Amino acid sequence: MKKSPPVRQQAIEYLQFLKEQGITHVPASGKRPVRPSRSRSKPTPAPAPAAASRPAPDPRPTLVVPAPLQPIVDEIAACRLCPLAKTRQHTVPGQGPLRPDILFVGEGPGADEDAQGIAFIGRAGQLLSRMITAMGYTRDEVFIGNIVKCRPPGNRVPTPAEMAGCIPYLKRQIAIIRPKLIVCLGATAARGLVQETLPIGKARGQWREFEGIPVMLTFHPAYLLRDPSKKGPCWDDLKAVLARLGKKPPKA
Ligand code: URA
Repeated sequence: MKKSPPVRQQAIEYLQFLKEQGITHVPASGKRPVRPSRSRSKPTPAPAPAAASRPAPDPRPTLVVPAPLQPIVDEIAACRLCPLAKTRQHTVPGQGPLRPDILFVGEGPGADEDAQGIAFIGRAGQLLSRMITAMGYTRDEVFIGNIVKCRPPGNRVPTPAEMAGCIPYLKRQIAIIRPKLIVCLGATAARGLVQETLPIGKARGQWREFEGIPVMLTFHPAYLLRDPSKKGPCWDDLKAVLARLGKKPPKA
């Protein structure tokens, strides 16, 4: 039988190691793959002997964290500042590149995000992905985060105390991410980031500012799923965002 060259063997062992950590996909970019933190430790089952050479069955995407954000991600993973720490499965720090054109800020993780540690991957997240594509970006080109990093049980709105405890993480992230522009998705994001007091139905389409960064307020995708008639106004808001960036939506 042909003997594996040492480098290949090393790569297999490394991938095997990552798999044992629960990491199932590695980016080709050379950036460091990180498994979202688990609050309750469940033993990782030992992988089957031939697992490294088979495609992994677990579809969990990898959370790639730009190195300057890693210390905050680690702090969030260890955070026990509020009661949400007791009920979360994973912390959801948000994901994306540094210096993006756009940072989208939502309310807080739902069940899917809590299960996987990645922001906006459930139904609302899929709609957000379509909105991002319609704007001419890929999800990897924008940063996607939330006001609170842990799921409020039953998807309730986070309490003022939970928001107050968590928002400093977002503010520190923004100082490092340095997006050109921020889009607040829904009333909680608008209230949390720019202390908006108007209902989102009135505030949407308006510009605010956070630390010198323009902030657009618009509807949350989960609300658009419940009331599709609001998709048109939301699209107007996103076109205003593109215009401010000197861009146009790509032709369909
Ligand atoms: N809703 C949010 O506000 N954030 C998510 O990450 C998912 C759903």
